[in-house]
Amino acid sequence: MKIASFAAKTEDAQTYPTKCWWCGALVYYHTNGYGDSVLFDSLGGCPWQVHSCWQNYWKQEKSRRQSITEPVILRSLESDQLKRLILAGAIHKLSSNGFKLTEEQVALQLGISVGQLRQEYHQIYDLYMQGGVVQVRLK
Ligand SMILES: [Zn+2]
Repeated sequence: MKIASFAAKTEDAQTYPTKCWWCGALVYYHTNGYGDSVLFDSLGGCPWQVHSCWQNYWKQEKSRRQSITEPVILRSLESDQLKRLILAGAIHKLSSNGFKLTEEQVALQLGISVGQLRQEYHQIYDLYMQGGVVQVRLK
């Protein structure tokens, strides 16, 4: 996959907390805008913990459809590109709901602390002032 097309699609990424549609646990839904989506238990660390129901679902799909290829999302689990998409997804979700993109709000959306946000994601975002509020944007 070319980097350019990957970057262009970050606008379609989405990340938000939801309930697992199998077991009802609080999980984080992420889709990368390519049709791949995944449920994470937590977005606080690298590598992220993929939710077990989703893993089971994926195993079943794989045995049902012989020719299925592994989702891009799983092959990129430890990459900065995935971090980028997760952060982009959270930012888009907050913006579309009219929230200010403060570090606190973004961390809340990801279900992590501001400290974890700074530790895990600092290399892919910077801060800028808009409307008197310091806000997060992707580098
Ligand atoms: Zn579940």
